[in-house]
Amino acid sequence: MFKSVNSNENFPEMEKKWLKHWYEKGIVKKYLQKNSKSTKYFSFLDGPITANNPMGVHHAWGRTYKDLWPRFYNLLGYRQRFQNGFDCQGLWVEVEVEKELNLRTKKDIENLVPGDPKASIAKFVQLCKDRISKFSKIQTEQSKRLGYFADWEHSYFTMSDENNYMIWNFLKKCYDHGWIYKGRESVPWCPRCETAISQHEMLTEDYKEIVHESVYLELPIVGRKNEYLLVWTTTPWTIPANICVAVNKDFDYSLVEGTSGELFWVAKDLVEEVFKVKVGVGHDRPVHKVIKTVKGKELVGLHYQGPFDDLPAVSEVAKNYPEKFHTVIATDDLILPISVTEGTGMIHTAVSAGVEDFKLGKKYGLPMIPVIADNADYLPSLGFLSGKNAKKHPEIILDYLREKDVVFKTHHYKHRYPACWRCKSELVWKVEDEWYVAMDKKSKKLGVRSEELGGNKTLRERMIEVAKKIKWMPEFGLDRELDWLKNMHDWLISKKNRYWGLALPIYECRGDGGCGGFEVIGSKTELKKRVISGWQAFEGNSPHKPFVDEVKIKCSNCGKPVSRINDVGNPWLDAGIVAYSTIAENNQGEPLYTKNKKEWKKWFPADFITESFPGQFKNWFYVLIAMSTVLENEPPFKQVLGFGTLLGEDGRPMHKSWGNAIEFNEGADKIGVDVMRWMYSRQNPADNMLFGYKKADEVRRQFYLMLWNIYKFFVEYANLDNFKARSQNFLAPVGTLKNVLDRWILSRFTGLVISVEKNLKEFSAKDAALEIEKFVSDLSTWYIRRSRDRVWVNSDNKVDKNNFYETLYYVLVNLSIIISPFTPFVAEEIYTNLTGKESVNLEDWPLIDQKSKIKDQKLEQEMNIARKVVEAGQAERKILGVKIRIPLAQLMVKVDSTVSIKSLPDEIWDIVLKELNVKNLVINGKLNYPKKKVKVTEEQLEKEGKLRELIRQIQSERKLKGLKPDDFINLTVPKEFEKEKDWIAKRVLAKKISLADISLLRWFATQRVVKAA
Ligand SMILES: [Zn+2]
Ligand SMILES: [Zn+2]
Repeated sequence: MFKSVNSNENFPEMEKKWLKHWYEKGIVKKYLQKNSKSTKYFSFLDGPITANNPMGVHHAWGRTYKDLWPRFYNLLGYRQRFQNGFDCQGLWVEVEVEKELNLRTKKDIENLVPGDPKASIAKFVQLCKDRISKFSKIQTEQSKRLGYFADWEHSYFTMSDENNYMIWNFLKKCYDHGWIYKGRESVPWCPRCETAISQHEMLTEDYKEIVHESVYLELPIVGRKNEYLLVWTTTPWTIPANICVAVNKDFDYSLVEGTSGELFWVAKDLVEEVFKVKVGVGHDRPVHKVIKTVKGKELVGLHYQGPFDDLPAVSEVAKNYPEKFHTVIATDDLILPISVTEGTGMIHTAVSAGVEDFKLGKKYGLPMIPVIADNADYLPSLGFLSGKNAKKHPEIILDYLREKDVVFKTHHYKHRYPACWRCKSELVWKVEDEWYVAMDKKSKKLGVRSEELGGNKTLRERMIEVAKKIKWMPEFGLDRELDWLKNMHDWLISKKNRYWGLALPIYECRGDGGCGGFEVIGSKTELKKRVISGWQAFEGNSPHKPFVDEVKIKCSNCGKPVSRINDVGNPWLDAGIVAYSTIAENNQGEPLYTKNKKEWKKWFPADFITESFPGQFKNWFYVLIAMSTVLENEPPFKQVLGFGTLLGEDGRPMHKSWGNAIEFNEGADKIGVDVMRWMYSRQNPADNMLFGYKKADEVRRQFYLMLWNIYKFFVEYANLDNFKARSQNFLAPVGTLKNVLDRWILSRFTGLVISVEKNLKEFSAKDAALEIEKFVSDLSTWYIRRSRDRVWVNSDNKVDKNNFYETLYYVLVNLSIIISPFTPFVAEEIYTNLTGKESVNLEDWPLIDQKSKIKDQKLEQEMNIARKVVEAGQAERKILGVKIRIPLAQLMVKVDSTVSIKSLPDEIWDIVLKELNVKNLVINGKLNYPKKKVKVTEEQLEKEGKLRELIRQIQSERKLKGLKPDDFINLTVPKEFEKEKDWIAKRVLAKKISLADISLLRWFATQRVVKAA
């Protein structure tokens, strides 16, 4: 006997029951160990989740994939590492800790222990570590809830010593190639976090639509009375940093007389736009006069006066660079193209406060006026502006300009402006010394193995070669990655003014008497060898601030004591090294890369990684490739599956305030994780996914409940019929099967196993899931539906009955195995109940005997044709308005003539006739089935219809009364069914049938079904 199946099962509760069982009974451990002796390896490399907050339903999408393929390869007998990873270091954690402690600035952090910056930093770093510890535990529990099986006790943490020192090793290699340098560049900068935001971190979603007050500024030309350059800027806070005005030397510029009599230079194409004046509603009338028009090159060399020329920092530069300061220059189109779609065609150039401005300045040797400090306060040398915040108080600039009467006009300008990805503050641009990895420097390292390791090629060239060796899914991934690789700037790896991150192992010899050189240390051992002081204070601590900074080494060039630079590393370094740092024996201890490279090679490159792709081309995929290219000149992974973004089911990004966000725990308890996992699995990863409760209901109805009801049907009737499974080896009961339905469903199932295996090996969960859905639908709406009269009291054919159960048993047991990577909970429920064995998680993938001819293509085609005929017949009945339960003597059906119907065997025709409830079929006016027409009288047909209706009514009343299929009843039927009494009794399990002298119509209204004693 199988355990009976509840039709109103509480699935989330069922899942919790199995979770408890799996962990308490050691099923997970056994699963992890299942193939530990195997010689086949499947190497999956986890992209670490940031352990900074609870997991969201969007994480569950990727984590479903991260569990699905390891489960699949476990069924196939591959040895695996099953290692999950947590990302730990970086600004994201710092910002959350700052929020928790209500800290506002850098100064607050350094004053956590009042008056003791070092102790303060130690405390702050510890709090960051504590936060990671807290949320990694929460995320572990949530992942378990998702049904994710992994080596949870040995997850990797990117803050580990192993990880940090392996990054040192990488940076040292970069240094040996000559690729590490300190560069002075204009960088995007967050004034709240007081640190540079690298190009990698500026994702499109971090741009906000912002309205800024833009200004048209009048700049009087030196030596020309009443003549002005008219420049337009959307960032008035940068005007004090103005050095030049750039024009395009080939454009036409016009000198225009405005209403007040002054003369302004403006690009000719923009004159109308700039000088239009509102007169009345909706009418703009130009009020101006063009005096003359010249080419831009004729303006080059003009000098002008700026509104802030009196500020000390500005007058200092004016004095030192009289030739270059406040002149009109010709732009370089490749650096700063000028457009005439908006503005004035004359570009305010602030060398210290813009990327293009800075590059133009570099090219022309322009001076620079630094204007803001790290928090965007104006610097002390800026007179009345000093100490005021440039971003928070734009009005100080505008008010001053108005007072000076140099504002031509202002207008509110809406544009997309970048914000800090972590704290959402608007970014500024600032010139800073930062550390970079050069993308375009030839390697200076030439050794024995150098050709194999890339020769003297640049990092960019090498990375492009490596990226091309990887299989990208979806295919556009390669183009997206190459696009980034071809266009990205040098890699900014430093973060100033931050605390919780990789200690960049760069030792720069600066300060009094320093030689100005720098060195990179590649390991803890190397550091220990080079130390001249401070080792004791560092020993026993992780290589983080503040303790690692106690260590001083001797400059190998000049012998002076040298400290580590103050910066921490870009956090993407941390996740990029994991192919090297996390592969370790039993997922613990020293990385195999340094301990036992031969063993490491068995796991490297990883066979597979999967992450949400927006952003990762610039981030995780990029850093993995960069670091592996430097270390081994090899791809770190062979295949990558990228997937889109999870949105609310209203199509908008999930936001708490919009009411469409779903927290993971809430989703899991309301939807059930099997259904969630199925939703992710059947999704096309190339598209964004709409997720919500309505979508979940659809999936539950269309797949999950259908599967459950098949299982319930089997258990219920197999128990009634006292079915005993033949054997425990779950082999298909081929050879013994006479019924065409059994042979058909076995053929379908065999095809399913083959195609699911193929699709999963190609990393298409979607195609595999959709095949499974189609099969389950066939199983329910055709196989079971057409087999209902083969079970229980409906059939006396014991052999056929047993064949039905054998077949469905085989299908269900093996189906539970192949769906276990997708929906492990329901798979376990079905599998354990049907087999009595320990767990589906310890199973092997079903063996398909390719030679047994279970797969019968011809039969499947015939059944498809039969179902097409049935569809056409049902459509015909609809047109005639005759319900399916009323038998017909004949039905004329039209079927697409391309379908070859002639060849259908009799056994399939019989199924068609039964499904359509007709005696004779005429197809396309020609073909008849049966060949010999079945003759039937009107009375016979009517009787048959009535009998069918009667049985249906009794069965539905049985159900209404809550009777079980094996409960006997007593029953009264109309007298006209006297002859069929015994037949009815058997069909509805009646002990006693009495006859009443009433019509069927009256009987419908009054009939009584009573449970028999
Ligand atoms: Zn910020
Ligand atoms: Zn030195």
